[in-house]
Amino acid sequence: MKKSPNHNIYSKLLYFITIMTVFFMLLFLSLYIFNNRQEKQTYQNSQKQFNAEVQSVLKLNSDGPTALLTDLTFWEGLGSFTISKDKIWFKKNIVDNFKHYDFELIEVYGLDNNPIINNEYSKIKSKVIIPKEALEQLNKKSFATFYIKSQKGIIEIFGTKIQSVNNLNSKNYGYFLVGRLLDKDYIQTLETNSNSKIKIVESNTIESNDRNNMNYIFPLKNWNNETISSLTFTRTLNLEYNNIQNLLTIIVLSFILFILIFIYYCRLWFFAPLNTVTEILETGNKKSIDVLKKAPGEFAHIGNLFEENRNQKLELVKAKLKAEENDRLKTSFLSNLSHEIRTPMNAIVGFTELMMNTKVKEQEQNEYLNIIDKSGKNLISIIDDLIEMSKIDSHQITPNLTSVNIESCINELYDTIKVTIKKSKKIDFFILENKSPAHFNISTDEVKLKQIIVNLVTNAIKFTHEGNVAFGYEVIEDQQQIKFTVKDTGFGIDEDSHQHIFDRFRRVGDDKSIKAGGLGLGLAISKAYVEMLGGTIALESKIGKGSVFSFTIPLVYDKVEMITVQPIKNKTNIKGEEEGTILIAEDDNINFLLFQKIMKTKNFKIIRAQNGQEAVNICLNNPEIDLVLMDIKMPVMDGFEAFEKIHPIRPNLPVIAQTAFSSNEDKERILKEGFSDYITKPINREKLFDLIDNVFKKKVS
Ligand code: ADP
Repeated sequence: MKKSPNHNIYSKLLYFITIMTVFFMLLFLSLYIFNNRQEKQTYQNSQKQFNAEVQSVLKLNSDGPTALLTDLTFWEGLGSFTISKDKIWFKKNIVDNFKHYDFELIEVYGLDNNPIINNEYSKIKSKVIIPKEALEQLNKKSFATFYIKSQKGIIEIFGTKIQSVNNLNSKNYGYFLVGRLLDKDYIQTLETNSNSKIKIVESNTIESNDRNNMNYIFPLKNWNNETISSLTFTRTLNLEYNNIQNLLTIIVLSFILFILIFIYYCRLWFFAPLNTVTEILETGNKKSIDVLKKAPGEFAHIGNLFEENRNQKLELVKAKLKAEENDRLKTSFLSNLSHEIRTPMNAIVGFTELMMNTKVKEQEQNEYLNIIDKSGKNLISIIDDLIEMSKIDSHQITPNLTSVNIESCINELYDTIKVTIKKSKKIDFFILENKSPAHFNISTDEVKLKQIIVNLVTNAIKFTHEGNVAFGYEVIEDQQQIKFTVKDTGFGIDEDSHQHIFDRFRRVGDDKSIKAGGLGLGLAISKAYVEMLGGTIALESKIGKGSVFSFTIPLVYDKVEMITVQPIKNKTNIKGEEEGTILIAEDDNINFLLFQKIMKTKNFKIIRAQNGQEAVNICLNNPEIDLVLMDIKMPVMDGFEAFEKIHPIRPNLPVIAQTAFSSNEDKERILKEGFSDYITKPINREKLFDLIDNVFKKKVS
């Protein structure tokens, strides 16, 4: 089958999902970038503000000492002190006044760079010497702020040159320096003022790239403008951009998870069942149908529909095969039929011509007539079978239940069949020993029952050259059945053919059965009859070992009476002494001629009627008529109608129907209408005389 183009729904959906994913990813990415930029911008603004704040705090922090030292620079008293070195004056005017300032260090140096006041008023216990270079710098600049390292830590130094303003040439006296130790208190005050965390670090760079904190670095420089250490100011920035990023990440991950779940369930709920549907449509696989039936939702229903459809298809295929088989069988049946009809016809035509065209001796003539007679009977049985089968097909046959004495039925059949077995066959023919006979009459259709047994037994004889053929019955009380068995030790039937053997037109085996002849209808008719009687038929057979056909019918006792086996009726010989007038109602000239010839041997007066109407008229006008042989199918008025008219007027006049319709139903109808008896065409001479004999006997009695 042609596959549909590449893009099936599944790949289309994946394509669509991929585009959606890319679109959403781009959206998330732009949000992420936008968020990052916003964060950066805010950070930068906050950082700027923070820098400004810290710078102003630092400025404020140094503003006090700077102003103080600016005042002291031109103070004559201090200049005089550098000369007098009066420490009492110094304590009283400087140290005591400076109490309110948090200076840990107050020092005075001379122009020779030697200390005048050194460490005397220092809160720092270790000795702090201001380097010579620092003082030289101070000399140049007049005022300086710088940091030095001491054992106690870093000290912030404010220094000023002591000068005289009275002197136009400006005289220098020395250097006045105050210092603040960058200790815990100092840092804490700065921290409070700047609302930040402060650390003293060696390097002047910050390694952390933490966006949640803003940093400001203030380098602590010595007199030479060299950084000796740094103050880092850190303030936490609660922007919480991380939360937004986390949220975005969660959304992205959830989105991916959702897509994966979506694809998974799409496969489970749609694409897997759809693939199964495709597979079913392509292969009709039963397993796939079972899988689909278990699929979720509507697909289970579709699975059920597929199963129904598959069953219907199988039925159709079966029906088709059956039709083909029937066709084949019919073809073979037609060739069989042709063969089966031509063979006796050939004999009839051939021997008739022989007798007509050549002079044959009386002995040969008898021989030929025998052959013609047998061939004619064969033809009739073939036609009987065909008609019977077509009636079965059109359901025209129903069982006619009567009270049947099975024992005598079996005996009668035995007697009838035994005489037909050719002497050339070395067959031992007998009735099977019966351990449980029927003690009462059985309600069944005698004619059909006999027909089944005759079919089976004649087959058994036909397909057995030597050995045994036996038949019989037994009652199976607990199953409420009567079982009939027909056994032979003939060719046997191979096991593969057992299931077809009861099909119509079926002839199994090799040329043996073909040689034996037959249309393959006997077993089909038998089976149909058995089923009609409410039983089953079975076969056990092996090639070369013989066959056992058995069938059952329901055990329905008719009357609770003991069976008395009736003696088989002795046949009355035709002695030719009967006399009487017989009306033969027959439209066909040849058939009438045959009647005339047969009757010639007897002393009957023969009157002919060519149709039913004539027969009625003759009967009414001729009271001497003793018997009517009434053809059923006639022009103007048929036999049934004519009988209906004659019977009320001459109720005691025996009327025997003669008909070409040979089925059981016809026979039943004839007897039901009230005819005395019937005879089927072609007319059997013996049978005809037997019937006439019976009629006249009854009449006499
Ligand atoms: P037919 O009228 O051709 O015998 P049947 O329906 O009676 O048709 O039998 C069908 C076929 O079954 C026969 O042609 C023969 O091959 C086989 N068959 C029937 N009965 C026997 C048997 N007793 N032994 C061997 N083969 C048998």
